[in-house]
Amino acid sequence: MTKAGRFARRFRVDDGRRFRLKHVDPRGTHGIASKEEASAWLKKGVERLAELQEKLYADDRWGLLLIFQAMDAAGKDGAIKHVMSGINPQGCQVYSFKAPSAEELDHDFLWRTTRCLPERGRIGIFNRSYYEEVLVVRVHTELLTFQRIPEPLVTERIWGERFEDIVSFERHLHRNGILVRKFFLHVSKAEQRRRFLQRLEEPEKNWKFAPADVRERQHWNAYMRAYEDMVRHTATPQAPWYVVPADHKWFTRLVVAAAIVDALEELDLNFPRMDDKKRKELQAARRLLKG
Ligand code: ATP
Ligand code: MG
Repeated sequence: MTKAGRFARRFRVDDGRRFRLKHVDPRGTHGIASKEEASAWLKKGVERLAELQEKLYADDRWGLLLIFQAMDAAGKDGAIKHVMSGINPQGCQVYSFKAPSAEELDHDFLWRTTRCLPERGRIGIFNRSYYEEVLVVRVHTELLTFQRIPEPLVTERIWGERFEDIVSFERHLHRNGILVRKFFLHVSKAEQRRRFLQRLEEPEKNWKFAPADVRERQHWNAYMRAYEDMVRHTATPQAPWYVVPADHKWFTRLVVAAAIVDALEELDLNFPRMDDKKRKELQAARRLLKG
């Protein structure tokens, strides 16, 4: 296993049954002393990622789905921006999922994300995802009413049923060559407060501030319980969760980059091999060009 793989695996949950959120310290930096040290590593990771993505695209068989979930201001957008910075934009698709539209509410809860799944050869990024269905909807159960699910189907078992359906769906993706890697950026309540205050105090950050985000903070403990339960029920070897300390943005980005490099390294990708016929065609083209 590569160094990136060993590093990322410390945060990887393959089997959620023993997972406890309190065992992950949001402030953790696991021996990396400074932002500067992390930057050097991140640069290497981003370069490696660009090479691997080109092979993924050329090979055109596997796809990679990256899912990001977190509380507000945990740094999802920044992590996506920095980690994917070296990648050819044509090989990558990013989708953000907000409160569902009327059309989306007319369908089952996997419908809107299914339409955005990455093609073979591509990396797809979900900034929030169907996991909101066991997070925000679980914390605010009144949201279920808008979903107009027939009454007999809405019981206290609904969250367990959603976990089951998500696990089956991700198994289906895995069996079809779409790798799934999920990131929960775990920020502390104190650090979120600091970042919100920064958004209020610095004029160029004001646009990022949403009053509703402060209201959501009041449900912090309910969210943490929902996140923990989500990881416990949906972390599998085929679709692991990475629970990433997120109080230091530079550390979060490093773990995310390492995990993606690890996923792609595992595929052992190669550029497509040329057979004899193809090689002869290339030689003929070369002769033609040289005159
Ligand atoms: P972010 O906060 O990720 O940077 P944003 O602030 O640009 O994104 P918002 O307008 O806050 O986006 O939209 C995200 C909101 O949509 C979140 O509060 C999230 O909980 C909510 N949301 C996402 N999916 C669902 C869903 N399936 N049901 C209800 N609410 C959802
Ligand atoms: Mg928001």
